[in-house]
Amino acid sequence: MEKRPFLTLPQLQEIVKTYPTPFHIYDEQAIRENARRVKAAFAWDPRFKEYFAVKATPNPRLLQILHEEGFGCDCSSYPELLLSKACGITGHEIMFSSNVTPAADFKLASDLDAIINFDDITHLAFYDKIGEWKETMSCRFNPGGHFVLDNEIMDSPQQAKYGMTREQLIQAFRYMQGKGVKHFGIHAFLASNTVENEYYPALARILFELAVEVQRETGVHIAFINLSGGVGIPYRPTQQPSDIMVIGEGVRRAYQEVLVPAGMDDVAIYTEMGRFILGPYGALVAQCIHQKHTYKEYVGLDACAADLMRPAMYGAYHHITVLGKEDALCDHVYDVTGGLCENNDKFAIDRALPEIAIGDYLYIHDTGAHGYSMGYNYNAKLRSAELLLRTDGTVEQIRRAETVKDYFSTLDCTGLLDGIE
Ligand SMILES: *Cc1c(COP(=O)(O)O)cnc(C)c1O
Repeated sequence: MEKRPFLTLPQLQEIVKTYPTPFHIYDEQAIRENARRVKAAFAWDPRFKEYFAVKATPNPRLLQILHEEGFGCDCSSYPELLLSKACGITGHEIMFSSNVTPAADFKLASDLDAIINFDDITHLAFYDKIGEWKETMSCRFNPGGHFVLDNEIMDSPQQAKYGMTREQLIQAFRYMQGKGVKHFGIHAFLASNTVENEYYPALARILFELAVEVQRETGVHIAFINLSGGVGIPYRPTQQPSDIMVIGEGVRRAYQEVLVPAGMDDVAIYTEMGRFILGPYGALVAQCIHQKHTYKEYVGLDACAADLMRPAMYGAYHHITVLGKEDALCDHVYDVTGGLCENNDKFAIDRALPEIAIGDYLYIHDTGAHGYSMGYNYNAKLRSAELLLRTDGTVEQIRRAETVKDYFSTLDCTGLLDGIE
């Protein structure tokens, strides 16, 4: 898939007059259009709901936009719950899919009347002392073994810390039945960032078959199946994007073939996508501030892995466009780096790009999910701002850049910082 920036150089030159680089910027129009495609793909299920995975992009302005499009929030920590609450997203519009959950987090989820999705059977007795049993609760399933799609191992759930075994899930449902819980959900996350259209349908089939068996064995009412996240995006230009309409249709077919014949045609489909919802509609924009010619050719940016950790952490590919040189020949090879004292602080290694000059702006694609949010403060680097390119073409700052004062705010350095900006 050809990768084009959603910003042009002249547009950017206007923006940097007010907001200096580096920053992440998000495209509101494209976000809304994509959200509508997701809803259309699952429109066959009147109960469908997407719970946006807040960890992917925890910005209240974006959560509100997604909420306007009908999405809820998938939270996994106390601050994420508060963030949702601050956006007016509470009750059954919150899915609380946490693991290794502190007591205070369960308590807040209970107080907010979120749907709690238990990661482990031991959490039930833990929760019993803290929160209220609600009419609707959920459990996370881990089938173990390998998850295989088209004879290819996609992932190994047996190595994953998440979820409970089939036996534990049934035991958990029985326990909750005894506590008065009436409606149950089943959740699983078996493969991450896959552009295979078959992922959700295959996962749905596994969970639907499990739901039929569990309902028969325990008599509980299965109210929803939560397919969680994992739908990927084409980070590389050589990848084909997944087709959400095909994915939705695949899930519908599994629903018709497994749930409907079992008389379970009132089961809602929920999703918790993060990457697919925002990934392609955000970019990190940085400026080339240095060039270095040693054993390799280096381009040094004003952004670093503190702004986008995926390349350093997973060796992840992020496409790069030099703004204003979209159609220039990629006849130079560069390592594109940040300034951390860590040799893995490279946005790209041996990347063919047009000739880059100091002052050029580099547009790093697909940072709309798991981009800013993975940021950190290593080397005392300050995290960047976040901007929103609105549907009317104006730009709104939706998070300011960190300042030195923010960095020092958890330290007691009274007097030390007087007069420091
Ligand atoms: C990370 C996560 C998601 C979102 O995953 P994406 O790959 O961004 O779609 C959803 N649910 C849970 C429980 C997660 O941990």
